[in-house]
Amino acid sequence: MRSIDDLDVFGRTVLVRADLNVPMADGEISDDGRIRACLPTLTALTDRGARVVVVAHLGRPKGQVAPELSLAPVAARLSELLERPVQFSSELTGMRAQSAVAELGDGEILLLENVRFDSRETSKDPAQRRLLANELASLADLYVSDGFGVVHREQASVTDVAQLLPNAAGRLVASESQVFDRLITDPKRPYGVVLGGAKVSDKLGVIGNLLSRVDRILVGGGMCFTFLAAAGHPVGDSLLEADQVETVRQVLADAADRGVEVVLPVDIVVAREFSPDSEYATVAADSIEAGWMGMDIGPRTVELFTEKLADARTVVWNGPMGVFEMPAFSIGTRAVAEALADTTSFTVIGGGDSAAAIRAFDIADDRYSHVSTGGGASLEFLEGKLLPGLAVLEDH
Ligand code: ADP
Ligand code: MG
Repeated sequence: MRSIDDLDVFGRTVLVRADLNVPMADGEISDDGRIRACLPTLTALTDRGARVVVVAHLGRPKGQVAPELSLAPVAARLSELLERPVQFSSELTGMRAQSAVAELGDGEILLLENVRFDSRETSKDPAQRRLLANELASLADLYVSDGFGVVHREQASVTDVAQLLPNAAGRLVASESQVFDRLITDPKRPYGVVLGGAKVSDKLGVIGNLLSRVDRILVGGGMCFTFLAAAGHPVGDSLLEADQVETVRQVLADAADRGVEVVLPVDIVVAREFSPDSEYATVAADSIEAGWMGMDIGPRTVELFTEKLADARTVVWNGPMGVFEMPAFSIGTRAVAEALADTTSFTVIGGGDSAAAIRAFDIADDRYSHVSTGGGASLEFLEGKLLPGLAVLEDH
């Protein structure tokens, strides 16, 4: 994988795939961690006189223009953070985008509108992706991959365009890859993984593969209810992926065969409704009643998880333990975050929302060994998969 230092960028147009998929609340950026994470690459390029065109996505607009998922507010924040103007093109690759690129001077930056407004970006059909990739490639001379959060995706702006231009890995992709390489090749044991969050089916897929690599898996967050259901417990109105229960049973059986300990919550904070001021209560994890939904892990679970991580020398955490955006249901996530911050083990936090939670709790990033910008990408890396967005870079 080449570094941006290997590219001769002066006066040339460099297309940078960044991950600017920041959480938004009421039209405001609620956490700008991912924008900050791409600054080193952008400044390294502009300092050397490159004309930088940034391509990125926000949310899941499913190939349609969705004004609330415009990257315009991100361009404004990027400009504030860089303390220099950032142009914005409301078109992705059309005539107006082309002329905006043509007007860029050396050291200037342009951000293109949300690439996922174009259905070809995430198309399963390589020919469709290739059409968009050709249009993107025609805007630039060089390609830099710096969206670590998307390198596990086979998408036009990630894999296809990389094959059309001389390319390199940006600073973020290079440093993230280094950390995850270390986790794959030389993890100190015991090695524990803490999983949570909402993207249940995304993450269930990876657990099976993690079993061969780790010693212990702790499950909290929205995904724990599919596990509790697989263990035969009622989950009331909690987040549940009924079609995954069988898969989880298989995972639990495999884990037992391999001697990997899967630790599930023993108590859960449940609420009447998905709302910050709902009535709530703490109940045993095996007796969540109908009419209640699980919102956070309970205090006994926090204790159990802390104990299970105490002797670990490597810990990876991906996904909040509860609905941390609502103060009443943030306690479990905060407690696990604090417990990990206090350890001397090699601790890696993955996942956009997990990293946002840490910042929301005001826990300094440097109390962990590494805070990753990639959720799915970091998990797939840990599974030992060759990530398509990285594989394509090594070809050059
Ligand atoms: P990450 O971005 O760190 O990979 P995810 O995107 O998978 O994490 O999940 C983050 C979301 O999961 C948060 O918005 C949080 O509110 C939600 N979540 C956590 N626990 C629950 C739960 N018990 N029920 C519903 N949503 C939950
Ligand atoms: Mg997320």
